[in-house]
Amino acid sequence: MEFKLINNKDFFDGLKVGSCIDSTYFEEIEVDANKDFNRQPAAKENEASKESLASHKVGIIRFKPFKDLDFIKCAFSTRLGGVSTGYSESMSFCYDRGDSRENVLENFRIFSKAIKISPDRLVYSKQTHTTNVLYVDESNAGMGVTKERNYDNIDGLITDKKNLCLVTSFADCVPVIFVDKKRHVIGSAHSGWRGTVGNITRNVVEQMGQKFGTKAEDIVSFIGPSICMDCYEISEDVAEEFKKAYSKEEQKHILLDKKNGHYQLNLHMANYYNMLNAGIKPENINVTNICTCCNKDLLFSHRASKGKRGLLCNFIYIKQ
Ligand SMILES: [Zn+2]
Repeated sequence: MEFKLINNKDFFDGLKVGSCIDSTYFEEIEVDANKDFNRQPAAKENEASKESLASHKVGIIRFKPFKDLDFIKCAFSTRLGGVSTGYSESMSFCYDRGDSRENVLENFRIFSKAIKISPDRLVYSKQTHTTNVLYVDESNAGMGVTKERNYDNIDGLITDKKNLCLVTSFADCVPVIFVDKKRHVIGSAHSGWRGTVGNITRNVVEQMGQKFGTKAEDIVSFIGPSICMDCYEISEDVAEEFKKAYSKEEQKHILLDKKNGHYQLNLHMANYYNMLNAGIKPENINVTNICTCCNKDLLFSHRASKGKRGLLCNFIYIKQ
C-alpha cells in the first residue's frame, strides 16, 4: 500500500525537529473476523470485489519515534480491513454519520484484535472541538465502545494505567500524542484548528505535570496524520484567530496569505509551536509525513469528501 507523502522538509528546514521526514511505517495485520468473533461470513466476502477496502487486512500506521519506546503500543487506523460500507468504507469509528452502530462496534473488535487489546479496555474520547482533557483510569475502561461514557466534551485523554487504550478520532484534524518516557504516562488529543488555537497541547502537558509530575523535557510527542498545508485553505476570520494566538515569527511558518481573503494554514507547524512552547524539546517533537486529504482513498478526509466520511482513530496504550 502506497501513501502519498508530504515533503515537509521545506517547512521545517532550519528548525530542529525530531523526525518529520520518514516518520511513519505501514503494517497490514491479518484478522480473521469470522473465525475470531464466531459470526457468519459477512456479505462483503460474497459481494465485494477484490479491490474493496474491506477485503484488505487491517491497515495500521505506526509512528517510528515510538517504536523504540517498548512499553507502549501506538497504532493509527486506515480505511482498510473493516466492515463499514459506502463513504464509511471500511474501517470507520464514527457513530453519527449514517453508519450502523453494529458496524462501528465490529470495526472496534477487529482493530482491537489486530493491536492485541480487548475492546473493553478501550476508552473513546467524546470530541466536540474543546480543549478539555480528562484523566481516565480503570473505572473508564470500555467507555464509548462496550459501555456508555460518563463524560462529554472531552478532546484529550491522559492515563498512567496499564493496558488501558486511549482512543481519539480524526478526519483531517491533528492527532497530538504524548509519551512521558520516564514516568510511563501517555496522552492523546484531537487538535483541529480550534483545539490548536485554544492550545489543547498545553492542557495535556500541564495535566500530565500536575497529576504525575511529568516534566515536559521527558515527553516524546507526535503530530499524526492530518491535513497538510497545501490542502488546507482557510478564510480570513480563521486566520485572524491564528494571528492572535501566535507570534509574528511563528505566523510566518503557519499562515500563507494568498492576498485574496484566503490563506493556507499549516496546522502541523502550529501544533509544533504549541509543543515547543509547552517545553517539549525540539528533538523530541515528531511530525507526520502523511496528509489525510492527499490520501483520501486510504484515509478519511473531511475536506476531500466534503463531509461524507467516516472517522480514523489513534490507539495508544501502556503495555502490561
Ligand atoms: Zn494534503
